[in-house]
Amino acid sequence: MDWYFLYSFIYGLLFGSFFLVVGFRLPLRKPFLWERSACCHCHTPLKFYELLPVLSYIIQRGRSRCCKTHISVLYPFMELLTGSLYAFCYINIGIKWELLGALLLVSLLMIVLVSDLKFMVIPNQLLLFFLPFIILVDNIILKKPFMDSFIGAAAGFGVVGMMILISNGGMGAGDMKLFGLLGWMLGMKLVLMTLFLACTFGAVIGGLLLLTRRIDRRQPVPFVPYIAIATIISYFYGNPLYMWYASFY
Ligand SMILES: [Zn+2]
Repeated sequence: MDWYFLYSFIYGLLFGSFFLVVGFRLPLRKPFLWERSACCHCHTPLKFYELLPVLSYIIQRGRSRCCKTHISVLYPFMELLTGSLYAFCYINIGIKWELLGALLLVSLLMIVLVSDLKFMVIPNQLLLFFLPFIILVDNIILKKPFMDSFIGAAAGFGVVGMMILISNGGMGAGDMKLFGLLGWMLGMKLVLMTLFLACTFGAVIGGLLLLTRRIDRRQPVPFVPYIAIATIISYFYGNPLYMWYASFY
């Protein structure tokens, strides 16, 4: 039994549960560290056993204990997703400093995903909060050249910025800043691949949703789910994908 696998999954579940709190409270400018979690319907403070990731949801059959309000399936989903991604990072990287960089990337994506799904915003404070940690892990511990990070950030920020100017809609300033930060972490080559993949997924899946009339043409659609999938693919498979693509020429 690989205990680290289990640990990474369980840590992911717990962090996922915390990321939900951060992602929900940050855009509302509510404190998220010292305030206890409460039922969003009747505001009864939650007991510790009501905060167990996934388990509480299953035991309570998707309803709160206090007033039997329906709990969004987003909670267990985000917890499981974070747990699975943490375990996935561990399996792919092992116990190395690089793992810290990958966990930082996944954590950023998960919080942004929560805020985007709930409020359609990417909080600035969140991106600013992550920046020093990213510099510490990527540039100081892992010794990635600052110039590469800077060029990556400029590429992500600049290309999305141009796309916003040209297309006049679709992506917003939040996406531009997020891509700047992703560029810092991924470098120019991989951030451009991320952007390409995200737009492709967005066009294909968005197109299917439109065709099947699950969404309306005027309805704004969260773009971060596509960015998150694209980032994880580029981060873990970007270089092999480039080699495969280059082998055709
Ligand atoms: Zn309640």
